[in-house]
Amino acid sequence: MAETERYDLIIIGAGPGGYVAAVRAAQLGLKAACIDKMPRLGGVCLNVGCIPSKALLDSSEYYHLAREHFAAHGIRTGAVSLDLAAMMARKEQVVHELTENVRKLLEGNRVAVIGGLARLAGPDRVEVKDGSGGSQIIEGKAILLATGSEPVAPPGLAFDGERIVSSTEALSFREVPQHLGIVGGGYIGLEVGSVWLRLGATVTIIEMLPQIASLLDGQLARGLERILTRQGLRFRLRTRVRGAEVSGNGVHVSLESEGREEALECDRLLVAVGRRPLTRGLGLEEAGVKTDPRTGQVLVDERYQTSVPTIYAVGDLIAGPMLAHKASAEGIAAVECIAGLPGEVNYDAIPAVIYTWPEVATVGLTEEQVKERGIPYCVGTYPFSGAGRARCMGEKDGFVKVIVQTKTDRLLGVHILGPRASDMIAECVLALEFGASSEDLARTVHGHPTFAEALQEAAMAARKCAIYSS
Ligand SMILES: Cc1cc2nc3c(=O)[nH]c(=O)nc-3n(C[C@H](O)[C@H](O)[C@H](O)COP(=O)(O)OP(=O)(O)OC[C@H]3O[C@@H](n4cnc5c(N)ncnc54)[C@H](O)[C@@H]3O)c2cc1C
Repeated sequence: MAETERYDLIIIGAGPGGYVAAVRAAQLGLKAACIDKMPRLGGVCLNVGCIPSKALLDSSEYYHLAREHFAAHGIRTGAVSLDLAAMMARKEQVVHELTENVRKLLEGNRVAVIGGLARLAGPDRVEVKDGSGGSQIIEGKAILLATGSEPVAPPGLAFDGERIVSSTEALSFREVPQHLGIVGGGYIGLEVGSVWLRLGATVTIIEMLPQIASLLDGQLARGLERILTRQGLRFRLRTRVRGAEVSGNGVHVSLESEGREEALECDRLLVAVGRRPLTRGLGLEEAGVKTDPRTGQVLVDERYQTSVPTIYAVGDLIAGPMLAHKASAEGIAAVECIAGLPGEVNYDAIPAVIYTWPEVATVGLTEEQVKERGIPYCVGTYPFSGAGRARCMGEKDGFVKVIVQTKTDRLLGVHILGPRASDMIAECVLALEFGASSEDLARTVHGHPTFAEALQEAAMAARKCAIYSS
């Protein structure tokens, strides 16, 4: 019988939580193994999440610009047409390159990459089943769970993979839907909806709450809804989906809006109402790993340790925003804790981005949260229409909103709706990390002309000394 392989750390899942943790473990001199059931590493993020969605958002934005905006810049392109197969092939190529890079990264760091379905076989043992019926047991002084999440289908909306789909299939349609219905006005619905709208579909987003992107600062969410509506997205807010039936090439969706029953006919329905932790088949119960009975999330302490001292968990599997950078930060912190170092994540400074156009990027408290906590605050805002660079680009939509603690001038939150918000937010995350004041931001010299000047102006506005607004 082959000898059981022993590791310092076994990581289950090679998504942004797991593979980053594996590299950090190797840097700290731990003998690490990283197991994934999928042949392509990188998890949801690289394969069916962040990366393919952004590749399609970028491609579809170019298409939209070429059709609608180039002429205003004096560029005549002639008839612009769509080659969807080429667009999808490019997306696949981007995913392929990045997932291969993860494999090289792990192998380069001498992490053992093991393919197969993993299950806990004890506090220090993992069973791995490969696709061809074989299985092996490996042992680890510590085990890190990073198995991520899966999409949820509410009752009456079961995925069929063809007409009623999750984001995975909606990022790979072979033809542009005529009418795409989307259940859920969160960031996935808004991003995937934007892709297909730009490529020519009618898109209706159904949201049961009165606001899209419900976690956003209300002023931003309303601003985003107005802009996306102008672009052509149709919103049905305060509307519940009761069920959906597939007939032929169409989907009949039953709705209820303020007590009235209604219907929507579409040819594809994307269900994007949320994701749940992927714990099925992991053997958590038998191993004694406790989960939250309401959410299914694995319960961990501030060191990412579960109820079993040798087993740790990070990423979408545990509480907090389901975001790739949050998973990676936790992966690093958890491994540092396992190695006896003081690893931690500052949950007050985790940015969130929606890659619509214009983009949305936020960090820290919203105005609603500040009010709820009774913190005395003031707000500074500045529109991108006042930024020279935005004018050059022809991007006048959106604004920056800075929320500041009145007494101390400390920044509490920054919320950006505008061009390249995703890149601009990094400065604000750093500001929050360093406990910066609005004066720090206002006195920081920003290059001219840049979008970030709007950030500086908003900080000045919070201090009632904005230069460009009266
Ligand atoms: C459409 C979409 C767009 C997104 N866009 C963004 C974005 O722009 N920015 C952002 O920050 N986040 C985005 N996300 C969220 C992001 O993808 C997740 O937060 C992130 O992937 C979570 O990382 P993770 O490591 O916890 O898990 P995952 O990435 O889900 O990785 C888990 C891995 O574990 C493996 N696994 C599971 N069970 C087992 C098992 N029993 N044995 C072996 N292997 C197993 C899986 O195969 C998978 O590879 C998006 C998600 C979606 C769906």
